[in-house]
Amino acid sequence: MTSNFAIVGAQHVAAPRGILQVSEGATKKEEKPRKFQAIRGTRDILPPETTLWNRVEQTAHEVFATFGLGEIRPPIFEATELFARGVGSETDIVSKEMYTFVDRSEKLEPQPLIGSMDVFLQRVKQLYKSGEIPQDEIGLELVEKQWKKVNDLLKGASSIESGAIEIYELIMLFEALRLGGDVSLRPEATASVCRAYIEHNMQQLPQPVKLYYMGPMFRRERPQKGRYRQFYQIGAEVLGGPDAPAIDAEVIEMVMTYFAKLELQGVELSINSIGDKNCRPKYVELLRAELQRVKGKLGADSQRRIETNPLRVLDSKVESEQPIIEKLPRIADHLCEDCATHYAAVKRQLELRGVIYRENWRLVRGLDYYMRTTFEITAAGLGSQNAVCGGGRYDGLVELLGGPPTKGIGFAIGEDRLILSLQESGKAPAQQGRDVYIAWMGDKAHATAIRAAKDLRAAGFSVELPPIEQKFGKALGQADKLGARYALILGDNEVSEGLWSLKTLADGSQQKLTEPDLLQFLREQKPVSS
Ligand code: ATP
Ligand code: MG
Repeated sequence: MTSNFAIVGAQHVAAPRGILQVSEGATKKEEKPRKFQAIRGTRDILPPETTLWNRVEQTAHEVFATFGLGEIRPPIFEATELFARGVGSETDIVSKEMYTFVDRSEKLEPQPLIGSMDVFLQRVKQLYKSGEIPQDEIGLELVEKQWKKVNDLLKGASSIESGAIEIYELIMLFEALRLGGDVSLRPEATASVCRAYIEHNMQQLPQPVKLYYMGPMFRRERPQKGRYRQFYQIGAEVLGGPDAPAIDAEVIEMVMTYFAKLELQGVELSINSIGDKNCRPKYVELLRAELQRVKGKLGADSQRRIETNPLRVLDSKVESEQPIIEKLPRIADHLCEDCATHYAAVKRQLELRGVIYRENWRLVRGLDYYMRTTFEITAAGLGSQNAVCGGGRYDGLVELLGGPPTKGIGFAIGEDRLILSLQESGKAPAQQGRDVYIAWMGDKAHATAIRAAKDLRAAGFSVELPPIEQKFGKALGQADKLGARYALILGDNEVSEGLWSLKTLADGSQQKLTEPDLLQFLREQKPVSS
């Protein structure tokens, strides 16, 4: 009976629960309930600001569609492994900024395996190997050890009771085993879009496939102006097809067109080429050697980066390092012929499109998979967090994620910063206005007001219909506070006469109109709500 140990009991033994317990009845009378606040680095976006967010997003839908892009909505969490590979496990983003958790949502059902412990153990081993049972916490070794102990006991024992504790422990171990995996809230979306491209065989569609997305991203960074832990990006990826410089230029032209449409102020585009796998490694080695020579003059961060990621030293904002960095070798002088030709063509293509750029040899991207074209766009009113968009080419990424060799280029706009900049330059609506506030008094007037509200809303006007009767004076005060353009005054007189009073709140002028004339008059005015 060596291997015939039934673990039927597993279902009925409660796994140890967490230690968090709410002690009911323990609250003293004078204790106020806890007030909750949004978690550090996250925030509520409220009206009227949301009106601006909607406008910014709507404009993206419109402009990107004119360039033939389609929207993709990938999930907000993915396998941690996807980001580790796609973003690079050495990057700050992956190594310290991700919100990662083990998602053990599926229970490992021992039922079908009852009768053969070995089969069960075999299955557990497989699941460990495939990563479906996370490697942390309970080790396979522990399960095996415990199983052996029980097994030995059972061999020598006359009754099952003598091994009760060991068996119980084994059951607890199985209870704690859960299927699932290591998942993370997405810190960016490029890896997800590439995953989706592969998963849905998009290489079979006409190439290149042009996609855009918008939504929240999560990074555990130190919160400050323009830097949050939950922030929003609007981004695009062009996947497949050739790596023609015209693609790079058109992608950049699209963002610039979008920013122009939003009337974003102080827009500056910087571009650079960071080479490819032929020329960059040699340049990085040269840079590392140069940095080693001046190591003593560099700060701790830069010193560390000499080993981990010398390109990032070029990013440094440390004042004392600036003169040293200026003398470092520049990648433009070390590009291979293909990269140099590509870069020159991108610049020519930008000029053909009337896109104004400046070159910044120190522009390197924090992410591992970028190659050749990189670009960054800054805008006014943002202080030191002034980058509103970062992008570049990443021809190796899809392959790195298990797909076919595929060219790729994309960008991500920091929507929070875009909004901040628009607000700073007075491009934000001050208040979410109403077109018409209906001031009514009397039952008959209420019925008419309800009908009028319905008709006006159907015609696209934003209408405020107070739920309870109030004196006209109070109602008009309310209309003012809400920033309404017009007040429609409906009393019993107006209803029986069939002539409605419309007050223009800006100048206090008032006119009497029949219902059709009033609708006609308002229609001629542009609704403020749109
Ligand atoms: P930064 O140098 O500002 O940290 P980054 O190199 O980390 O930017 P990317 O990963 O390229 O930025 O993301 C693209 C854009 O997303 C940035 O240009 C920025 O506008 C925005 N962004 C990045 N991190 C945050 C954040 N924590 N909060 C708000 N916006 C962010
Ligand atoms: Mg960053």
